[in-house]
Amino acid sequence: MFKEFYSENLYRAVFTFPKFTRNYSKNYKAVQYSFKKISKKKKTLVLDIDETLVYATTNRSELRAIDETIFIKMTKFGASVKAYLSYRPFLFQMLDTLRNHFELILYTCGTASYAAAFAESVEKNGGKRYFDHVLSLQHCLYSMENEIYIKDLKILEEGRQLKDIVIVDNTIQSFFLQLSNGIPIYDYTGDKSDAMLPLLCDYLQFQILTAPDVRTKIDKDFKIKKLIEAKQDYYNR
Ligand SMILES: [Mg+2]
Repeated sequence: MFKEFYSENLYRAVFTFPKFTRNYSKNYKAVQYSFKKISKKKKTLVLDIDETLVYATTNRSELRAIDETIFIKMTKFGASVKAYLSYRPFLFQMLDTLRNHFELILYTCGTASYAAAFAESVEKNGGKRYFDHVLSLQHCLYSMENEIYIKDLKILEEGRQLKDIVIVDNTIQSFFLQLSNGIPIYDYTGDKSDAMLPLLCDYLQFQILTAPDVRTKIDKDFKIKKLIEAKQDYYNR
């Protein structure tokens, strides 16, 4: 059901997909990190923040309805920027359901202080702790050729296996390194009639949770890897 929404758009996304080489600056290697598995839940759900769970802007007039205002620390001396959030509809219902089944992790290419402010606002509004770990820019790789940041799920391998990890992200490029672990979702830009999260929630709960290897299931359902490999072959001819 959920995956059918994507077939047409995926083709479009894949055709505008940049050519990737294997040139990344592994800047996170310099960062001390440990994302040990705390939760006993078998599967791990990694969630992108911007345009996946929320639309955030510093320009108040961009949003008709503001759900929350956060302050993002810019320097350690206390200067901060005010940002306005519009939560994607059904965000809290989805998190309330999925926290019972998945270990939940946020992973953004935004700054650590933005990620922390977002997580705090969601947990304050939801009245509970949802996220086991919050990963941000310092945990991303940088693709010099494409001038974009990429996420790398290998950073989570301590205590987990890639067959049990899924990432949901509105930008396919973000999970380029593990295409078989990635579930794409349409951009959320503040439209309160958006109803993607209930569909995503059902797909995760009823199809991904029972999959022995999420990669096989995702490859079969979304075919992103196949499409991109076909395109890369075309480039490499
Ligand atoms: Mg995003």
